[in-house]
Amino acid sequence: MDIRIGNGYDVHALAPGLPMWLGGVRIPSENGFVAHSDGDVAIHALCDALLGCLALGDIGHLFPDTSDEWKGVDSKLLLSRVVALVHEKGYAVGNVDVTIALQKPKLAPHIADMRRTLAGILGVTEDRVSVKATTTERLGFVGRCEGCEVWATALLITK
Ligand code: MG
Repeated sequence: MDIRIGNGYDVHALAPGLPMWLGGVRIPSENGFVAHSDGDVAIHALCDALLGCLALGDIGHLFPDTSDEWKGVDSKLLLSRVVALVHEKGYAVGNVDVTIALQKPKLAPHIADMRRTLAGILGVTEDRVSVKATTTERLGFVGRCEGCEVWATALLITK
């Protein structure tokens, strides 16, 4: 058996009047993410973690933001493409761990929904999908509600 580990990181800026998608879930908020896609910064970090496991580059390389094909795209579709690539290479998802830094709104009511949604796309049970949220105690760009920062770790195992 071979195991692979990878990490991913992403940031998106917040702006008023845009939809907020995080972990595949629509979050009620007065601010949303500025992006070429739907701006789901949690899924983007997770995609990069999965790609990092197999040294397959990054999400920007696979789905360029200069391409109209990916304009406004549902990031769940990008994640399913990455998962398909992982399976093609002979691996399956072992577990993933995602940490979201956002000042507001509070994400606690949405964590279970995110875990369920991501587990469905990753093809694993929810107990293999961790999603955690934190504020930055009002410090930095996250604390000033200018953006959201996400770190993700993924472990793959051979099928
Ligand atoms: Mg992104």
